[in-house]
Amino acid sequence: MPELPEVETTVRGLAPVLEGRRIASIALHRGDLRRPFPPELRQRMTGARVTRVGRRAKYGLIETDRGDTMVFHLGMSGSWRLDPTEIGKHDHVVIETEEGRRLSLNDPRRFGSIDLLPTDSLDSHAPFAAMGPEPLGDSFDGAYLAKALDGRTASIKALLLDQRIVAGLGNIYVCDALNLARIAPGRAGGHIARARLDVLADSVKSVLRAAIKAGGSSLRNYARPDGELGYFSSEWRVYGREGLPCPNCQATIRRRVDNGRSTFYCAKCQR
Ligand SMILES: [Zn+2]
Repeated sequence: MPELPEVETTVRGLAPVLEGRRIASIALHRGDLRRPFPPELRQRMTGARVTRVGRRAKYGLIETDRGDTMVFHLGMSGSWRLDPTEIGKHDHVVIETEEGRRLSLNDPRRFGSIDLLPTDSLDSHAPFAAMGPEPLGDSFDGAYLAKALDGRTASIKALLLDQRIVAGLGNIYVCDALNLARIAPGRAGGHIARARLDVLADSVKSVLRAAIKAGGSSLRNYARPDGELGYFSSEWRVYGREGLPCPNCQATIRRRVDNGRSTFYCAKCQR
């Protein structure tokens, strides 16, 4: 499943092709992904000039000079393909720029989505209205975590996955950040000392930046827009590495499953 680093990598791949360019056409090869496409999508996007390509949490944002933002989510298996040689049955949306560049949104499992929102009030619409700060932003730090986690008895892992506390974190990078910060995933969020929250906030940024630098990671068939695979899994600290040595202390990495979701951690150095 694409996580924040994959979406950031995607956005960085799309930006040079789309920013400042006019959209000559947008073809919709079906009526929906996880939900129906906005009825006005084709009309609003055709002929519009893209002013910015960005990201909020795990959503990609394509802003136009008509005051619209096309918001995309890659779901479980989505990826943008750049100048595909042929359009297959999983290429559900195809954008062509006035320069003749083609971008196709390929999504075999169709858990992705496309919405069209007014750019000037993006933050007040679902899913953005209740979202916490960006983990790579300046406002996400130990002081913020201390305030957000105050009095909370849920596990730190569950709290970091809560999009209202911090936006866009998924299982892989939460496991890895907790290992880097040497904090046990089951520890109550409100019981972690402030100095350790400073380390945790830095650790979250560090694992995300490393993944973005490596081009994103994936469990499945994620590909960068230029067609290169963005696997980063060999560099995960603990995620998917049960039985291998912990990068902090060399003890054996363990896996625990709660509600069908795996947690990878080191029982020796994560406290
Ligand atoms: Zn360890």
